[in-house]
Amino acid sequence: MSPQFDAVMPITHRPDTVFVRGSGSWLEDGQGRRYLDFIQGWAVNALGHSPAVIRDALNAQAQRLLNTGPAFYNEPMVALANRLVSHSLFDHVFFTNSGAEANEGAIKLARKWGALHKGGAYGIITMRNGFHGRTLATMSASGKAGWDALFEPKVPGFSKVAFNDIDAVAQAIDDNTVAVMLELIQGEGGVVEADPEYVQQLRKLTGENNVLLIVDEVQSGMGRTGELFAYQHYGIAPDIMTLGKGIGGGVPLAALLATEQVSCFAPGDQGGTYSGNPLMTAVGAAVFDVVSDAAFLQRVAQRGDYLRAGLERLSQRFGLGAVSGRGLLLALQTGHYSAGGIVAVAFDNQLLLNAPRDDRLRFMPALNVTGEAIDEMLARLEGIMEGMSHEQ
Ligand SMILES: *Cc1c(COP(=O)(O)O)cnc(C)c1O
Repeated sequence: MSPQFDAVMPITHRPDTVFVRGSGSWLEDGQGRRYLDFIQGWAVNALGHSPAVIRDALNAQAQRLLNTGPAFYNEPMVALANRLVSHSLFDHVFFTNSGAEANEGAIKLARKWGALHKGGAYGIITMRNGFHGRTLATMSASGKAGWDALFEPKVPGFSKVAFNDIDAVAQAIDDNTVAVMLELIQGEGGVVEADPEYVQQLRKLTGENNVLLIVDEVQSGMGRTGELFAYQHYGIAPDIMTLGKGIGGGVPLAALLATEQVSCFAPGDQGGTYSGNPLMTAVGAAVFDVVSDAAFLQRVAQRGDYLRAGLERLSQRFGLGAVSGRGLLLALQTGHYSAGGIVAVAFDNQLLLNAPRDDRLRFMPALNVTGEAIDEMLARLEGIMEGMSHEQ
């Protein structure tokens, strides 16, 4: 490893490459090599690398106002909050810098609601293989394998149940339960969808037991699945939702949304130095106007179908497994091939793919990815699989 990297804390295995620019679906390194990017910052760059919409919004806002602090209103903060409220069933928005912070806010809001309305109940039921972030409370809420023993002691008050198992939730609910929190599509868990029937039963069960339903749409929200929010596919009304990743299209922005009935923070309960800062919310508003358009969302669904059909063809040809997910959040089960091994070979072929588990590849391209880029990705992946199948 080149010594120039020694000063960067080694929190993950990074390839010995420095990226210097990006455009659309392409990322370029210091040697001028171009990589086809189907990770896009982990489903963050909703409109691809450095799109004009975001460059323009950043430039225009930087000329006017960078930061007021959270104790004052600013125009983009108000504008983006209004857009989110008018396109969802929520009434109030609190902005954060990251998905984990938005989820921390959701956990705090549920606990506050429990203190006010449910005799101090604070227990939150979460899902095995769920992922909610890397702060202590959100790690405690996550059901990621291997995390149980990390950074002990954990934040108390979370109990984990099997995903898609309504009886497990029913058994776990007790007088101390204030909320159930889940991803409707488990992203880091491998793009595993909640069953529609389960989600409807979950809404009914939580309602009957005076328990809040929190949906973490940090990965599934903002058009990724072909609807603006994944809960819309399921026809349910959650009490709290969190957004992140695609909401900023590449800049640090996330949000906590709540209905009026559960929005119970008193002044001083919640805050954050950069909450709602105009530079990031101006970008969020610009991204929102693109991705909330009905024709745009329809194209996301169409491109998703196109990508899915291509992955299913590869699966047939090489004897791989099923394709899961919705819209442009898809995963392909790799059968007896190591997904991590495929990702490494793909990198050498200048194709960026992700393996959330060693038995599946995840695809999270820009929402405006072209059919051409999808074809190019499929052709490269096919070539890689040909090479790997000959080695066997
Ligand atoms: C990425 C992710 C988070 C954490 O977001 P950060 O911005 O990395 O803190 C939380 N929940 C889900 C579902 C995610 O995919």
